Amino acid sequence: MKLRTPEAFWLLKNGILNSYPSLKKDIQCDIVVIGAGITGSLISHALLKAGYDTVVIDKRDIGTGSTAATTSMLQYEIDTPMVKLSEMIGTEGAILCYKAGIDSLNILSDLVKKENLDAGFETKKSLQIAHSEYVIKDLKREYEFRKKYGLKVEWVTSEDIKRYYKMDSYPGILSENGASIDAFQFTQDLFSKNSQRGLRIYDHTLIKKINFGNPVVIITEEGFKVICKRVIFCTGFETFNMFRKRYANIVSTFACVSEQNFNLYDELKDLLIWDTGTPYIYMRTTDDKRLLVGGEDLPYRNSNIRDKIKNQKARKLLDKTKRLFPSLYFQEDYNWTGAFGTTKDSLPYIGEHPDFKNAVFVLGLGGNGITFSVQGMALVLKILAGEYDPLIYYYRFNR
Ligand SMILES: Cc1cc2nc3c(=O)[nH]c(=O)nc-3n(C[C@H](O)[C@H](O)[C@H](O)COP(=O)(O)OP(=O)(O)OC[C@H]3O[C@@H](n4cnc5c(N)ncnc54)[C@H](O)[C@@H]3O)c2cc1C
Repeated sequence: MKLRTPEAFWLLKNGILNSYPSLKKDIQCDIVVIGAGITGSLISHALLKAGYDTVVIDKRDIGTGSTAATTSMLQYEIDTPMVKLSEMIGTEGAILCYKAGIDSLNILSDLVKKENLDAGFETKKSLQIAHSEYVIKDLKREYEFRKKYGLKVEWVTSEDIKRYYKMDSYPGILSENGASIDAFQFTQDLFSKNSQRGLRIYDHTLIKKINFGNPVVIITEEGFKVICKRVIFCTGFETFNMFRKRYANIVSTFACVSEQNFNLYDELKDLLIWDTGTPYIYMRTTDDKRLLVGGEDLPYRNSNIRDKIKNQKARKLLDKTKRLFPSLYFQEDYNWTGAFGTTKDSLPYIGEHPDFKNAVFVLGLGGNGITFSVQGMALVLKILAGEYDPLIYYYRFNR
C-alpha cells in the first residue's frame, strides 16, 4: 500500500537521519516489534526499559511510513465527541478514554524531556470551533459534558475568538490540554538513543511468513529466521490486510504547510484549531514557524487517484483557511496526502487477537493515532505480564 505521497513535509525537512542494517542472519530474542514508525519507537522503548531483549524490524527505512506524513496534532479529544462516545460505550468508558488521552500528552512530554529529544514538542491549547450555526447547540452540550467530568475546558464566543486569534468563526471549546511534535524526528531520535542501549533494529527487511507458535518464528524474504516469545505488530494501516474482518475504514487525508514566518504566527503559535465538520479542517503552527493545515478526507480507493487530486485539495484547504482568517497571508510551500484508518468509535485496537497466538497489536487509528500509541506503551507491558487494565477492554478487537 502507498501510505503517502513522496513529498511528505517531515521527510523533506529532516531527510533520512539514520540507517540500520537489514537482517542477514538467524537471530533470537524475547520480543520482535514489527514496524518502526512512531508506534514501534515508543513500544520498543517501553520494552527495552522493562528489560526485554527486543528486536525491531521494518521493511522500509524507519519512520518513513505514515509517521513521515502525520500532521501530529496531539489531542486528548478523539474524533468521536465525549457525549457520543458515552452513548456508545458508557459514560465510565468515555471518561476513561478521554482522560487517558490527557495522560498520554503528559507521558510524551516527560519522555521528550527525559530523553532530551529535539523533536519540536510544544504544548498547546486546543480550540474546537462549530463549523455552522446549526451545531453550536451540540458543541455547547459537549462542552458542558466535558466540564461536568472535570476536563479543563472553556466556552469561547465568536467575539473572543476574533479578539485573541483574528479568526472569523462560530463559538467553540477551548481546552487546556494539547501539543504538537515532529513525529518523524522524534521517531528517528528515540530509535537512535535506544539502539545505543542495545535495541537491535533492522530496516529494509521484509517479512514473508510468521508461525505464531511457541516460540514464534518469523521468516524474512531472504530466508533468515527470527525466533522469539512474542511479536508486537506496530505496522500501522497496512495491518488490516491480515484480518478476515474489516476493523477499520481507510481514508485519504490531505495537508499543506505555508512558508515560514507567516503573518499570524504570534496569534496562533500556542493553538491547535479544528472544527466540527465531517471531515473537519484542522491547523496548527510548526516548530519552524509555518502554518500547517489539513483535512478534506475522502474514502480511500486508490493511491493514484488520491495523489492526482492533492493540489486541488490543498487549494480547498487554503480557501477554507482564508475564510476563517481574512487577514492571513498563506504562501504554500508543500502539500501532500496520505492514508489513515478510522473506526466507528474512533478508538484504537490495542491488544491480542484470537487468530494470532503470541501476538499483540498496537494500532492507533483516527486523528489521535499518536496519543493512542503512547497509551500502548503501558498497555503492552500489562498484556505481556498478564495484567488487566480497563483500557484493554475498550480497545479490544471484536468489540
Ligand atoms: C496526513 C496525515 C495526518 C495525520 N495527522 C495526525 C494527527 O494530527 N495526529 C495523530 O495523532 N495522528 C495523525 N495521523 C495518523 C498518524 O500518522 C499515525 O497514527 C501514525 O503515524 C502511525 O504510526 P505507526 O508507527 O503506527 O505507523 P507507520 O508510521 O506507518 O509505521 C508502520 C511501519 O510498519 C512497517 N510495516 C508494515 N507492515 C510491515 C511488514 N509486514 N513487515 C515489516 N514492516 C512493516 C511500515 O513499513 C512502517 O514503517 C495522520 C496521518 C496522516 C497520513
